[in-house]
Amino acid sequence: MRALSITKWLGALLVVAAALALLYAMARRHPEDLPWTALDLSAPIGAFTGRKLAGLAEDAPRCRALLAEAGVRFVALPSHRPSPHCGYNDGVRFAPGAGDARSIAYRSADLDISCAVAAALAVWEWRVVQPAALEAFGQRVAEIEHLGSYACRRLYGASEGRWSAHATADAVDIAAFVLEDGRRISVLGGWSGDADEARFLRAARDGACDLFATTLSPDYNAAHADHLHLDQAKRGAIGWRACR
Ligand SMILES: [Zn+2]
Repeated sequence: MRALSITKWLGALLVVAAALALLYAMARRHPEDLPWTALDLSAPIGAFTGRKLAGLAEDAPRCRALLAEAGVRFVALPSHRPSPHCGYNDGVRFAPGAGDARSIAYRSADLDISCAVAAALAVWEWRVVQPAALEAFGQRVAEIEHLGSYACRRLYGASEGRWSAHATADAVDIAAFVLEDGRRISVLGGWSGDADEARFLRAARDGACDLFATTLSPDYNAAHADHLHLDQAKRGAIGWRACR
């Protein structure tokens, strides 16, 4: 009886040791899959990357440090607070890139966004958009067209109700992707169009869902027929995570 329970204990110890060894191996090889490792914007997307990116909304200095560490060229914007519901203290603007792997390819240089959105956009472009473009078209995306970020307004521009994540520059609307050969894939034209374009756009949407608090596409409603709405709304601002 006694010998049996010792065997049992040894067995349990072995299971625990094996689990610890597995965790150690994971931490060495895939630190992005562990909840306690530091976020690295250049690392592959892991099981906790989305949660870590969302946490940057509360820590702008750390967010800016991570952007710089990952080689993103940007300028930090001065605080802008025109009213209690509108404005930002954590705005950044991507600097025009020189075309290297770390440049962010946005057509308009005046994309002013919260740092947390910039961080998620960087990971999205490197780990979702570019691989999806290579897979669908055999070439990279040269430019991403957007419809802007900051807008002091409530949801859908209504005169009452909840404020939009755009009111704090915590959202960006993506309209189209221009490939290296000049081919333009718009959300409006491609979502239900050419099979490769539809597949690419859905891959871009699905990948965004892992990185942003809210991702809304043409699948959500007619108001999103021509863009992907990606937002990193601060905790409590909207209070829901959505992927549609
Ligand atoms: Zn939007």
